Amino acid sequence: MSKLKYRGLIGLEIHVQLAATTKMFCRCALEFAAQPNSRVCPVCLAMPGVLPVMNKKAVEYSILTGLALNCQIAEFTKWDRKSYYYPDLPKNYQISQYDLPLASNGYIEIEAQPGRFKRIGILRAHLEEDAGKNTHTADNSQVDLNRAGTPLLEIVTEPEMSNGAEVRALAVELQRIVRYLGVSEADMQKGHMRFEPNINVIIDQDGKEYRTPIAEIKNLNSFRALERSVDYEIRRQFEQFKKSRLVMEMGNKSTRGWDDANQVTVLQREKEEAHDYRYFPDPDLLPVKVTPEWLAEIRGRLCELPLALQRRYVNQYGLSDYDAGVLTVERGVAELFEAAVQQGADPKRLCNLITQAGMKLANEAQISFADFNIDAGDLARLAAMIDEGAINASAADKILAKMIQTGEKPEKIAEDENLIQKSDESELEAIVDQAIAENPEAVEQIKTGGKKSKKARGFLMGQVMQKTRGQANPKVVSAIFAAKLG
Ligand code: ZN
Ligand code: MN
Repeated sequence: MSKLKYRGLIGLEIHVQLAATTKMFCRCALEFAAQPNSRVCPVCLAMPGVLPVMNKKAVEYSILTGLALNCQIAEFTKWDRKSYYYPDLPKNYQISQYDLPLASNGYIEIEAQPGRFKRIGILRAHLEEDAGKNTHTADNSQVDLNRAGTPLLEIVTEPEMSNGAEVRALAVELQRIVRYLGVSEADMQKGHMRFEPNINVIIDQDGKEYRTPIAEIKNLNSFRALERSVDYEIRRQFEQFKKSRLVMEMGNKSTRGWDDANQVTVLQREKEEAHDYRYFPDPDLLPVKVTPEWLAEIRGRLCELPLALQRRYVNQYGLSDYDAGVLTVERGVAELFEAAVQQGADPKRLCNLITQAGMKLANEAQISFADFNIDAGDLARLAAMIDEGAINASAADKILAKMIQTGEKPEKIAEDENLIQKSDESELEAIVDQAIAENPEAVEQIKTGGKKSKKARGFLMGQVMQKTRGQANPKVVSAIFAAKLG
């Protein structure tokens, strides 16, 4: 048998929980981990005779996301009932959008590999309500309806990704976008983003193409599980094809789950036929008409999107793609960075300060660096102090920590903490001379050259730093050493 080539073909469905304060069709508060069944009312409990009222904010958030995903926004859209027969949605149907989704035919740009970008089509994005939660124990089953009626934006991509890394990149990019727009907290721990990849494999044998049956992996809620399950499934389908030669046909799509403990996908349902959800228009809800004025108003809320920002930082400020990516993970951090650059900070210097010391402090505090509320002007001056040689990089890190703690100005902290760098040549020369006199062995090693000379230089530099309590300007000291020892 000749050698087989294969590649994955993956489309993704994502449910994004919108950051509305109330539910989609009633006024119940959206609250994570509240007392079970404490955020419910006759509407989301599906009492007879109640009427749903649409949450306008959720519609606007969906339109805004659709615009960011380069979609066409429907001028006219309606609500449909999708049959659903489980206790966690007691109406026995889910309100969703069937044939007229709010947004369609768009695309999202992703960083498929570091520095390599790819466009993935967006088939549609529609708004719907979430179900509640069923909990089953050995003795009984319980239903919590706090989540029932939560607004969800379901986004469906074209099957245009080829591996787990691309699928993950799309998920991460989407998270960045919805957070920038403020339409979702996109907190994975709280289940704000849930993924369902559809996967099959294209196999090439002597120029003839075969496609394996599609498998859909249900309900993934971490980037890691998403990436790993996709890569596992591609490999599994390829191996399966070699044994069975089974190809895609009507009705042989299957549903699988991800077993995280064993890092494998497991079959849930085979031969899944097209569901008969018996969609029909919801007679209790008015259709949504998106007027040009309303659309223009929402379009006005769009901001520069993260990937565009990332590219601009590379082109305009000469940052590496990686650094630009780190700076643009959160809108608040990017805005602070940009504001400090406006106030004169050197972009690269500032980037180092934020992405290294700054983000380390933020991680320790378990908040975003932007949430320290540092004044952009203070940050710009701190960066400038390093560039002017007034302080060294490690002093800057200490000053930054203190700025966050006390809100004091960087200059004042540098003075108070004795962190101003010594750059006075004659003063430093005397200290260098002292270090040379005290360490003839190291001096000898430098003069002979060879392996040990580099280490000896470092040692002498360390001696000077010790004598000046870390305040010597290393550039000046190196120059003096170079003049004296070659
Ligand atoms: Zn309610
Ligand atoms: Mn859905």
